Amino acid sequence: MNSKTPEELHLYSDFQNCGMYWKSYDHTDVTADIPSHCIYCEAKLAIKDEPDWVLFCPNSGCGWWMHFPPPKPAGFRTIEHHAKWAIIKKFSFNDKDLPTAELAKYLKQNPHSMVNTHFSAFEKLVCSLMKEFYGPTEFIHVGRPKDGGKDLIGVFNDKITTFVEVKKRENIFSCESVRTVRNLLGVMTHEGVEKGIVVTTADRFSKEAHSLSVPKEESLANYNLELISFKDIKSWLNISRVSSSPSWEGVIEPYYCEDEYERDHVFVRAERWKQIGT
Ligand SMILES: [Zn+2]
Repeated sequence: MNSKTPEELHLYSDFQNCGMYWKSYDHTDVTADIPSHCIYCEAKLAIKDEPDWVLFCPNSGCGWWMHFPPPKPAGFRTIEHHAKWAIIKKFSFNDKDLPTAELAKYLKQNPHSMVNTHFSAFEKLVCSLMKEFYGPTEFIHVGRPKDGGKDLIGVFNDKITTFVEVKKRENIFSCESVRTVRNLLGVMTHEGVEKGIVVTTADRFSKEAHSLSVPKEESLANYNLELISFKDIKSWLNISRVSSSPSWEGVIEPYYCEDEYERDHVFVRAERWKQIGT
């Protein structure tokens, strides 16, 4: 495990124009200002396929990226495009505004750090993971304080309301007690909601908690309580699209060219691009 948790995270959570542009494309100098190596760790950059051209650092601990629209061949209309590259922002683990996707990526590599994230940031992450793994789901964030024992309410697509309780325990090697499950079940029965989920960073639930999650009383026969612990969150993170999506996703606008002839020419240029630095 990670014995030392960093005080702050350096994440590529933003981008800036990096000043490059093409005007009336001239392929002879197109590579002039484009780095062949990562500006942070100096690893040789890889290129993502056309039509969106992204140079990215293949170093998994780095992942810096740079995006630029494909230059057009000579003879086509003048273009002026700024390239963008990722910039690092510093976040404290206590920052409630930790960007969810980047946090997910970090925690995928450092799952034990989840106990140190700000509660709101963690809750947002759980919300996002649940949306991914519970299908078309709308989670309404309730948050605290005075939440009456529920932190999120999940409204599933088939209109089944689910109460979700999120517990961020400081100690992963702890045991989530029956009290948490009892509280949620209490709110559920009070409000007539039959589905509930407890999500905790503790690595297990007590035997009593498990036992209570399968209510024996006939009047509670329809109640369904799911218990999600640290290892479940960890496996969500491992297979989550959120934690594996590239940092540039959602930031750059995909290149689209209607003209087939022009597009073909751009693809020819893309082929040339792949040879950069080889
Ligand atoms: Zn790098």
